Amino acid sequence: MSNKLKICLILSCLLFSMFPAMALKMIAIDTSLLVLKNVKVLDLKKGRFSKESNVAISNGKIVSIKFPVRKIKNSRTLDLEGKYIIPGLIDGHVHVTAMMHNNMEKTFANLNYYLQHGITSVRDAAGDGAALKKAQQEILEHTRQGAKVYFSAFMAGDWYYNRGIGLRKEPYQPWEQLITPATNLDSAMKAARQSGATGVKLYHSFDKVLLPKVVEAAKKNGLKVWGHAMMYPATPIEVASSGVEVISHVFMLENLIPDKDFHKRKAPFNMKDSVARQFDITPFCKIMKSRHAILDATLCVSEVRDPWIFSLLRKIYAQGVQISAGTDEIVDLNSEQPRLLDELSSFVDKCGFSMIDAIRSATILPAKVIGQENDLGSVEPGKIADLLVLNSDPLADVKSLGDIHMVIQSGIIQVDRSIRNGH
Ligand SMILES: [Zn+2]
Repeated sequence: MSNKLKICLILSCLLFSMFPAMALKMIAIDTSLLVLKNVKVLDLKKGRFSKESNVAISNGKIVSIKFPVRKIKNSRTLDLEGKYIIPGLIDGHVHVTAMMHNNMEKTFANLNYYLQHGITSVRDAAGDGAALKKAQQEILEHTRQGAKVYFSAFMAGDWYYNRGIGLRKEPYQPWEQLITPATNLDSAMKAARQSGATGVKLYHSFDKVLLPKVVEAAKKNGLKVWGHAMMYPATPIEVASSGVEVISHVFMLENLIPDKDFHKRKAPFNMKDSVARQFDITPFCKIMKSRHAILDATLCVSEVRDPWIFSLLRKIYAQGVQISAGTDEIVDLNSEQPRLLDELSSFVDKCGFSMIDAIRSATILPAKVIGQENDLGSVEPGKIADLLVLNSDPLADVKSLGDIHMVIQSGIIQVDRSIRNGH
C-alpha cells in the first residue's frame, strides 16, 4: 500500500469518528474505491430491482448503493448499464471433499466451479474437515480461487457407527464424532469449533432425550445446529422441537406419514403423490415457524426416487416455512449449469415459489443457515461485496441466474465474462 493511501485511510478513520460527513468525502478519494455505476440492484426485502444505482465497494465491503454521481470521477468505475446485481449465490448443502481419501486439488476444482457459476459461498454438510479448513483459509487469503466454505462437524450416535455403515471404523476426529449419552458434550463441541467447523451436522442415532442436550451444548459453544429431519429414533417433530436450526431433506418427512402403503417399496408414485397431498403438514410447519427453523429441502437428491416431494414442499412453502436451497450433490464439473439452478427451477416450476422467494432461498436464507446473515446474502451497505452481475432480469426468468456477466467476491472481480464476450 502506498504511503499516500495509508495516510488517506488513517485520515478517513480519524475523520469518520469525528465528522462522519467529512469522512465520506475522504472515502471518495480513496483510490481503492470501486464503483459499479448505472446498475439495477436487487432489494431482497422489497422484492424488486432499484432504478439505476451506483454501488461503491471499498476494502471488500459495500459502502454505498446510492453513491453520489459527482464523486464517481475520483473512483475506479465500471459502467454496468443494463445489468442486474444480486447477492452472490450460496449453495446451502454441498459435499466438496471425498469422504475417505481427500484429494485437495479436487476440492479446489469443485469450489472453483461454484465460483465460476456465481456461487460465492457454500455450506459443506460433512466431509474431510482438515481439507475443508485448508480450503477455507486459502480462499479467504486469496491464494486460491473458489467459493468460501463454511463446514460442519459430523456427529452421529452409537447405533449408526455400530451398524457398520459409518464413515469410519474408529470414529473420532474433531470434525467427525461419535456422540453417546456418556460423551462430554462441551468438550466435543469445543473440539469441533477448533477444527474450523462453524456448525454441527447431527446425522443419525439421536433420541428425543439426548438430542436437546446436544443442541444446547452446540449453541453454547457458538456453533450452528444443522441436522437431518429424521434422526432414528427422533422423528421430524422431535427434531424440530429440539431446537435444530436447519433441518435437511424434505424426503425424510415421509416419516410423518402414517399411511402404511406409502412406505412399501413398490407403492406406485401416483399413490404416494396422492397420500402426500392429503397429508397434514401443519403441526410440523407450526413448530418450524415458532422456532424460526429453516428447511434445507434438497429436492435434487431425491427428485427421481420421490416425486411426491414436490407437492409436499409446495404445501410447506404455502404455510410460510423458511426454505433454503441446497443440492447435496457432488459437483459435476462438466455440467453447464450448477445443480443449484436446477433446484431453484424446481422451486419455481414444481413447488409454486415466486421468483423472489427462490432467489432468497439461495442468498439471504443460506446466509442465515451459516450464521453469516449480517455479512452475506443481500446487497446492502456494510455487507461483504459478494455480488453476481447478470445480463438479464432474474425476476423474469430463473434461467437468467446462469446469464452471468461478472462474479465479485469480497470486492474482487473473480469472473468477468465481458472480456470473453467482447462487450
Ligand atoms: Zn448431505
